Amino acid sequence: MSLFLRDLAAELPAALFTRVPPTPVPEPGWLAFNPDAAALLRLDSEQAQTPELLALLAGNALPAAASPIATVYGGHQFGIWAGQLGDGRAILLGSVQNAGGESWEVQLKGAGPTPYSRHADGRAVLRSSIREYLCSEAMHGLGIPTTRALAIVGSPLAVRRESIESAAILTRLAPSHIRFGHFEWLDYTERPELLRQLADLVISQHFAASKTAASPYAAWLTEVVQRTARLMAAWQCVGFCHGVMNTDNFSILGLTIDYGPFGFIDGFDAGHICNHSDDAGRYAYDQQPQVGHWNCGRLLSACLPLLAESHEAGVEIATSILDSYAPTYAATAIAGWRAKLGLVTAQDEDSTLINRWLTLLHRTRGDFTLSFRRLSTLNSESDAADEGRDYIADPVSYDAWIDDYRARLRAEASIDAERAPRMNAVNPLYLLRNHHAQWVIEQAEAGAPEHIERLRRVLATPFTEQAEAAMWAEPPPPGLDAPAVSCSS
Ligand code: AMP
Ligand code: MG
Repeated sequence: MSLFLRDLAAELPAALFTRVPPTPVPEPGWLAFNPDAAALLRLDSEQAQTPELLALLAGNALPAAASPIATVYGGHQFGIWAGQLGDGRAILLGSVQNAGGESWEVQLKGAGPTPYSRHADGRAVLRSSIREYLCSEAMHGLGIPTTRALAIVGSPLAVRRESIESAAILTRLAPSHIRFGHFEWLDYTERPELLRQLADLVISQHFAASKTAASPYAAWLTEVVQRTARLMAAWQCVGFCHGVMNTDNFSILGLTIDYGPFGFIDGFDAGHICNHSDDAGRYAYDQQPQVGHWNCGRLLSACLPLLAESHEAGVEIATSILDSYAPTYAATAIAGWRAKLGLVTAQDEDSTLINRWLTLLHRTRGDFTLSFRRLSTLNSESDAADEGRDYIADPVSYDAWIDDYRARLRAEASIDAERAPRMNAVNPLYLLRNHHAQWVIEQAEAGAPEHIERLRRVLATPFTEQAEAAMWAEPPPPGLDAPAVSCSS
């Protein structure tokens, strides 16, 4: 079974891409295939894993009509304008329109060099492909907007990083892979007519509601800013650190994109830095909300010509759009934290209660995920010691906080039997912990790739306790906490 790929080159401004075919790899083989993502393309997973599809997703054979492209963008990396970047190792094959009318772009990551590879090899290693495959599907399972992962194709092709590793090609899916950086590049190169063309394309394909607004560009940018704010709140509530929040890694659709040295926090550290190269902690966990704001500022700055004739009037409109970030973030975050505590009403003191809990977890390095999950078992009626107490290194502070939490639950006449399932529906039991990803990578490198799919299936429904999945809920053994991950991928 193959895919009918619609040509993206026909839609994008020509200055934004170069036609470039993937570079074939030797001896491609399936390492993972995700039936959930296959369903998005209406591929029947039973019949999908044909030699024909393998060759397509390896970059070894293309349908006659395909016209693969790599796009150019710019971006601010670690706060500094980086100039021209682009799809250095990602090649867009085209898009697939499914029977439900949805359109999904199909992109091969690690498919060989493009004009934007900047002397790098255009490849991705198996290790980083497994991490992206698992994490994008974990995010989707958590209900957080993200690009999706269809498959990993492996090849014995040697790739040089710190050491020699084997190559892999990840098939990534998204309704659009357009980034903030695409707009920044067109602004930087002073092509306002192309900027407008790209904005029109994105609005007409993905922001139908903005199209009919009185000021479509302002409505669209407001929606992007608010989606970004909501995405940052969602990351905070699951303890996700992206690691490389450069503007070229920010999706115009508000998706989590470009999984590199990311990490979910194990023992909670509000200042956790997951990227080995981020010495200053620019992208530390507690910085993420304000980085999202700063990045929206860069997008708005690039889009000023769309907002008004004069620069001054554009700045005024952009400023008011950016002003919607903070209240959107605050409202989404507080709602998220309240839900994690099982609260249904809103009280002014809730943010204090939540902050005290996070401070306790931070001070004791309590496991972020399991500490929230265990709160669902608390008996709010009696003072009996509860399950979670044994896991917090400062039981006295824990008891003091739990007293106040119980009082807060009673204040809204919370019923434990109803609260527990409500909390378990927002506090995951499973997420992609670094040490589990590492174990799966080692197994795959040793010739046992089946654990990739095994873990993906668990991560697809992270809120439901699953048979024979206990190991995937386990935090790292003491001492193995939260290694920073290298950027090289
Ligand atoms: P990243 O930090 O992974 O988002 O990558 C930043 C830029 O470097 C993007 O333009 C990538 O396409 C490019 N890039 C990263 N790794 C490679 C590689 N192995 N070959 C070519 N380009 C790469
Ligand atoms: Mg990137």
